[in-house]
Amino acid sequence: MTRQYDAIVVGAGPAGSSAALTMARAGLKVALIERGTFPGEKNMFGGVLHRLPALEKVFPDFWDRAPLERHIVKKGVTFMTDESSFSTVIEAGSFDKTPYNGYTIFRPRFDRWLAEEAAKAGATLICSSTVDEVIKENGKVVGVSIVGRKGAIKAPVVVAADGVLSFTALKAGLRKPTFNPGQMAVGVKALLDLPSDVINDRFGLVREQGFANEFVGCTEGVRGGAFLYTNYDSLSVGLVFHLASLKASGKTPYDLLNSFLEQPQVAKMVRGGRLLEYSAHVIPEGGYDMIPELVGDGILVTGDAAALCNATGVNLEGINLASHSGVVAGQAVIEAHKNGDFSGKGLSLYKKMLDESYVMKDLKTYRRAPHMLHNDRIYKEYPELMCSMMEYLYKINGTPKENISKLFLKAAREKVGLKNLAADGFSAWRAL
Ligand SMILES: Cc1cc2nc3c(=O)[nH]c(=O)nc-3n(C[C@H](O)[C@H](O)[C@H](O)COP(=O)(O)OP(=O)(O)OC[C@H]3O[C@@H](n4cnc5c(N)ncnc54)[C@H](O)[C@@H]3O)c2cc1C
Repeated sequence: MTRQYDAIVVGAGPAGSSAALTMARAGLKVALIERGTFPGEKNMFGGVLHRLPALEKVFPDFWDRAPLERHIVKKGVTFMTDESSFSTVIEAGSFDKTPYNGYTIFRPRFDRWLAEEAAKAGATLICSSTVDEVIKENGKVVGVSIVGRKGAIKAPVVVAADGVLSFTALKAGLRKPTFNPGQMAVGVKALLDLPSDVINDRFGLVREQGFANEFVGCTEGVRGGAFLYTNYDSLSVGLVFHLASLKASGKTPYDLLNSFLEQPQVAKMVRGGRLLEYSAHVIPEGGYDMIPELVGDGILVTGDAAALCNATGVNLEGINLASHSGVVAGQAVIEAHKNGDFSGKGLSLYKKMLDESYVMKDLKTYRRAPHMLHNDRIYKEYPELMCSMMEYLYKINGTPKENISKLFLKAAREKVGLKNLAADGFSAWRAL
């Protein structure tokens, strides 16, 4: 049996549900297809949801209704060695005022809720259904088929929102069949149960305030970093590795996560935490240079499927970019329906709106960041340099101090070499 819709969305993650909600609220007949038994069942991420300006317009009471954990008032970066750590923390008054800058969330709860909002707006949510083929007629995408089911689901336009490994974009011929491991990262996360009052005391928080901290120098030389985010009564703690570097190291994410949790300064933060869940996922880390074709005849590619993820090292922004691309994909489909044109040209408004938004502008601004981050010294020598400098500065033992600038040059020469220091400084200046 063939079912006919105005639009099909493949994947009920943040990109897909944002697209489905936008189109359903405009009165289009939308099929939102998800392989999980419920949206979010298999989805994981680090933990911080940032502002969603495009979705907030379509869904004005979004922040009052979404299932959120804590709002982030403190953000920190910690440089680590095996035995020491040096942290910088920003706790800004503006972070503690609405509209808040970011919230921790749980994907199974959040994704399910957002997809159900799309369904309430009129979209048909079809779960336990894995899309395996893209149906084409005269070179145009006109529908999809589902594993193990007879017949097709048809629509003049398909929105691919099926995540980083998007088979929909692949089958439509919009992305290459293989990935460059140099453009991919893998993240692992442990969810640790901890009472909310312990979290508040330990991290200097009150009520539902939250803390988000990133760590560098904790990956035994593998390119990558760690994160610790406070949920209401649990901690999300994990590591993100550059895939090619992890492979070359021969180390396993699980062992690296355990060593991280045992590092003395981290062990104090997670003390008493009971492991609730362990999860892992791939991240498109290549930035602007990784973006595939975004539009074809009868198809649009959104979110991680389009590599719209900003992993510059300061923040990991993925959900906000995915949701934004979903909303503008939905708006482009609404216009295409008005004009009756679903060709690549008729859908090109999507690319135009993305290009004009912070999504593409940020990815372009930080286009060189992924290359800059492929520098092993960032993950070992620089954290060691910073920790040893700070340790020296704060250690008072009755011996005369050296001049700080001279000391820095001496330590930098020993740890990284002055030529490398200059080259790395220039590369960071160009990338950031
Ligand atoms: C370790 C880690 C930490 C991260 N931390 C953050 C963070 O703190 N903040 C942030 O903003 N971002 C973070 N991200 C990135 C963020 O998770 C992604 O950018 C975001 O989830 C992309 O949303 P999406 O909707 O495009 O794809 P996804 O969230 O991957 O959703 C895709 C959906 O499609 C479904 N699907 C896949 N294939 C099919 C198919 N064939 N048929 C039907 N359904 C299908 C999947 O089940 C899923 O529901 C992190 C990612 C990782 C891995």
